Amino acid sequence: MKVHHLNTGTMCPVGRRLVNGTGSLFQRARMVCHCLLVETNDGLALVDTGIGLGDIATPARLGRRWLRQTAPRLDPAETALEQVKALGYSPNDVRHVLLTHLDRDHAGGVPDFPHAKVHVHRAEYDMAVLGKPAAPEGRYITQQWQHGPSWQFYGEGGEDWFGFRGVRALGDREPDILMIPLAGHTPGHCGIAVRSAGTWLLHAGDSYFFHGQLEAKVRMPLVLGYFQRKADMDRKARIANQERLRALKLGHGARVTIFNSHDPVDYENCRCGAH
Ligand SMILES: [Zn+2]
Repeated sequence: MKVHHLNTGTMCPVGRRLVNGTGSLFQRARMVCHCLLVETNDGLALVDTGIGLGDIATPARLGRRWLRQTAPRLDPAETALEQVKALGYSPNDVRHVLLTHLDRDHAGGVPDFPHAKVHVHRAEYDMAVLGKPAAPEGRYITQQWQHGPSWQFYGEGGEDWFGFRGVRALGDREPDILMIPLAGHTPGHCGIAVRSAGTWLLHAGDSYFFHGQLEAKVRMPLVLGYFQRKADMDRKARIANQERLRALKLGHGARVTIFNSHDPVDYENCRCGAH
């Protein structure tokens, strides 16, 4: 399958060294919203959607504190919608939107593809949409799904995938896209695996924030570590899954490329590798 790596929302928090681990304290950091546009047997599929046009039109809905801390660029040209068009597709060609979870910087583009089926873990839907159990206050931006998308849900079942469990998101017509539960950041957080050119990509969402976390020894940038801790709904579960990802990379790194949502190093490596 042909896969395009898109950055659908640059964020520029202060204190580059403490966020990216490189550069000066006084520079702005760079974080991305790493999404995939995948040409499948069943039309285009978008893996995560980043910041959407509705967020850019009404930034206040993203929350003042979040805006201040992450300093998103809010450039319409970065939205998935505009990038889909720039690649020569119609937004209606996007038939599936697969979400790692429903946080604002992942679900913002959902209303830009109102005809797409939206795939998400049931536990994520239950908390974010139904409030069962109630989400921490201000965690989710309900306007991002007030248009009433057509949802499709996942649980913990599925087939074995390198020791993880994965469900074929698009059914048997497309065996090469799997939803893989990786709880911790949120209860229904998933990774999404896509096979391309004989190897696998694993979009690990927010199951880790810094590429070094999949290495043997890591010096986590201080502020990034703070962002991560603050966002963890179940820190123990997230760290356990991060360990599983580290083992996956160690054992199968030649066959599986793992990357997270916001790390610019992971993003540039994927772009250069042209997966
Ligand atoms: Zn995120």
